[in-house]
Amino acid sequence: MAGRFAPSPTSDLHVGNLRTALAALLMARSTGLDFLIRVEDLDVDRVRAADGTAERQLADLAALGIGSDAPVVRQSERLDRYAGALERLPVYECYCTRREIAEAASAPHADGYRPYPGTCRHLGAAERAARRAERPPALRVDAGAATVTVRDRWAGEVTGEIDDFVVRRNDGAYAYNLAVVVDDLAQGVTQVVRGEDLLSSSPRQAWLARRLGAAEPEYAHVGLVVNDCGQRLAKRDGAVTLADLAAQGWDAGRVLSELGASLGLNEPGEPVTAEDLASRFDPERRPGLWIWEEPAG
Ligand code: GLU
Repeated sequence: MAGRFAPSPTSDLHVGNLRTALAALLMARSTGLDFLIRVEDLDVDRVRAADGTAERQLADLAALGIGSDAPVVRQSERLDRYAGALERLPVYECYCTRREIAEAASAPHADGYRPYPGTCRHLGAAERAARRAERPPALRVDAGAATVTVRDRWAGEVTGEIDDFVVRRNDGAYAYNLAVVVDDLAQGVTQVVRGEDLLSSSPRQAWLARRLGAAEPEYAHVGLVVNDCGQRLAKRDGAVTLADLAAQGWDAGRVLSELGASLGLNEPGEPVTAEDLASRFDPERRPGLWIWEEPAG
């Protein structure tokens, strides 16, 4: 049984990502679980464009004392597992463009997600053949309009209607929702601590886990880190990565201390190790929103 942190290597980790990674480690440690790191590198174009990022992410995590108890796995090396899972799911081809979905779908959810209206589910063979000649299809699961409720450790019950979401994109890449569930099940992950932006994906992922014959992990979504305008932290917000902060005179120990302080575990600037923080972490207390201020001067 394990917790995990599963970054996508498309850009260097910023303090928001690092804080989530730390919370995931501390939660696993304080609940007696192993901790795993998994590289989610299925989006080949974006990963290739960000060459060397996975290695820098792992080095930055290690510098903070955040390491995996088992060898790090990479999703790009596990494609056969996703293919195997697909064979066990009811799927259909979808030829819709983004625009067609936007025109046919109901209004997007608060997080911008547009539930798929099921357009391609009932196409006849001739129509399929014609559309397939126009563009390569994505694969969607037929979720049968299920409704799923999951429990988040801190947010409580979260209910979602499951649309026919994409499990293989039309460029052939396995979709995040499929890979994340297959890997969490295969790796014995029973605790998922991650950013609040993924809370609304949890019912979809739980549906998939159950459909694959397993129980979903326990979810615990932590508050995001925002800039001083209240927007989700991004690279443009200045010194936000470990390398940026080192250039401003903050070593990894100092950054760890800031992260620990943001979780209410130590005073800012107090020297701490990840192990110290694990002994102070209270799994009942949700890490809330954090407003990031970069070091002065
Ligand atoms: N790889 C995903 C991301 O970096 C996170 C996956 C997860 O924690 O479920 O956004």
